[in-house]
Amino acid sequence: MSTLFEKIAAGEIPADIVYSDDEIVAFRDINPQAPTHVLIIPRRPIPTVLDLEAGDAELVGRMVLVAGQIARDVGVDAGGYRLVFNCKEDGGQEVYHIHLHLLGGRKMSWPPG
Ligand code: AMP
Repeated sequence: MSTLFEKIAAGEIPADIVYSDDEIVAFRDINPQAPTHVLIIPRRPIPTVLDLEAGDAELVGRMVLVAGQIARDVGVDAGGYRLVFNCKEDGGQEVYHIHLHLLGGRKMSWPPG
């Protein structure tokens, strides 16, 4: 069974894709929590950040770099933005295919809810 995000990466489910390469896809969140809310995912399904292995370090680093490039492209780099990985139930994770939330375009509060 493919995850929802594998299907988006494969083009089987429509999404507003803002970035794509051979290992990473980024698309706008369907229920945005900020004026800019983009999800950056690996094409390869990894359930949670706890499942990352040493060999995935470059992939995760590239996800952060892609987030920075998108932030520049959409113009939230000057004001700043927030990057979030939710992990499992207490972290608020709903989709078990790792995704980096890029949130920007408004002032974020702390602590998060
Ligand atoms: P998380 O709670 O960290 O697992 O985040 C999952 C995110 O996926 C939520 O912010 C949802 O709004 C978002 N989401 C769920 N389904 C879709 C979809 N079909 N297209 C885009 N974003 C989605």
